[in-house]
Amino acid sequence: MLLSKYFLPVLKEAPREAEIISHQLMLRAGMIKQQSAGIYSWLPLGLKVLRKVEQIVREEQNRAGAVEVLMPTIQSADLWRESGRYDDYGKEMLRITDRHERDMLFGPTNEEMITDIFRAYVKSYKDLPLNLYHIQWKFRDEVRPRFGVMRGREFFMKDAYSFDLDEASSRAAYYRMFVSYLRTFDRLGVKAIPMRADTGPIGGDLSHEFLILADTGESEVFCHGDYMKLDVPGAGLDYSDDDAIAGIVNDWTASYARTDEMHDEALWGEVASGDQMNARGIEVGHIFHFGQKYSEPMGAKVTGPDGKDTPVYMGSYGIGPSRVVAALIEAGHDDNGIIWPASVAPFDVGLINLRPGNEKTDTACGSLYDQLTNAGFDVLYDDTDNRAGGKFALADLIGLPWQLIVGPRGLENGEVELKERATGERESLTMEAAVNRLTEWQSATRARFGG
Ligand code: ATP
Ligand code: MG
Repeated sequence: MLLSKYFLPVLKEAPREAEIISHQLMLRAGMIKQQSAGIYSWLPLGLKVLRKVEQIVREEQNRAGAVEVLMPTIQSADLWRESGRYDDYGKEMLRITDRHERDMLFGPTNEEMITDIFRAYVKSYKDLPLNLYHIQWKFRDEVRPRFGVMRGREFFMKDAYSFDLDEASSRAAYYRMFVSYLRTFDRLGVKAIPMRADTGPIGGDLSHEFLILADTGESEVFCHGDYMKLDVPGAGLDYSDDDAIAGIVNDWTASYARTDEMHDEALWGEVASGDQMNARGIEVGHIFHFGQKYSEPMGAKVTGPDGKDTPVYMGSYGIGPSRVVAALIEAGHDDNGIIWPASVAPFDVGLINLRPGNEKTDTACGSLYDQLTNAGFDVLYDDTDNRAGGKFALADLIGLPWQLIVGPRGLENGEVELKERATGERESLTMEAAVNRLTEWQSATRARFGG
């Protein structure tokens, strides 16, 4: 992509209403534009990151055996009357009346609708287990939308729903999602810790929130230092092996990890003080097992092997890709701007031409651009006639993993400069060596983060 042809409306200063760094940087880097309180347009650079996050989430859902559907944003109130939640949900639900005076709503979540889909088609235990998910915009009329897309009113969510014949298989389905979340956040290049969460009126111990540690997080986190060392299962894991999956969940839930909401001072006191980590975190995922809460009132039953009908056991599993984008910035930035994890960076390389119009730099940049693009790199080529200082500042701000800097002086020695954003390290090397370095990084990145 040529910067001169791109749409990257960067701002010199962050608007004053942006309180936290991710919001400031997303506005400055031209990733989002606010349209109303808590409602944003995603501009090209932001959209690229959002799509990459979405794709990783999708791949890991698929790997764990979930099947993608797409449900609408607008739902009929009648479904929610069946479950009893239409009146309970309160002001967070955006209620709409259509021209025929029918009550509709902008979906804040989809338990009712997915249960309706399930009951329309699935009648036998032989069709289970089943897990259906979609990645769709949600609306919750939050009292205090704030921090940009971190707590929006319209936001993007992956929500999966599992259906099983009994409690035990439902638990196994929950564990598969738990493990798929570990893999998802690992591929997103960030540490997310599962914490025991409130199950509300349903009870049981099966609800976990996944939190990314960051100073600006809304939740206070208490967790054992062990979580920093635990291994995340590789791509080869076998999701059909219930025992192995349960073993992984066991490892990841053995030590204390809770947010302030669930914190228990007595249990916390049992953790050696050297192991206690007290930090702040951002909730990026939440998984929940709720059994027959919706299937029972909505009549979603299956016939078991014994010929008897039972309401199906369900769980739901959410991740907010739009919040994840902001959370990744909270976890990865410095004074100059964003530092993206390689797996979701909007471009891999920023190619900087220090003297556009100069035949040598233009030719060298043209050649590097073609070579890298052909090798599968996503390159943002700064071919504008902005000053060098401005180009460097922009490249740092938008946080691409690499900057490849081409100027007339270097070229006289046959050299270009390669700068790694995360470390700030710069190196002068030949064009060929630079391409090789990037290619090595690309393979290592694919091995580390790839599917
Ligand atoms: P919170 O406690 O932060 O209000 P929640 O518990 O209401 O969130 P869930 O219903 O568990 O949210 O939603 C699943 C996921 O959707 C969350 O983990 C988060 O990633 C995302 N999400 C929820 N609400 C918002 C929001 N207002 N803006 C952006 N993302 C959100
Ligand atoms: Mg939650």
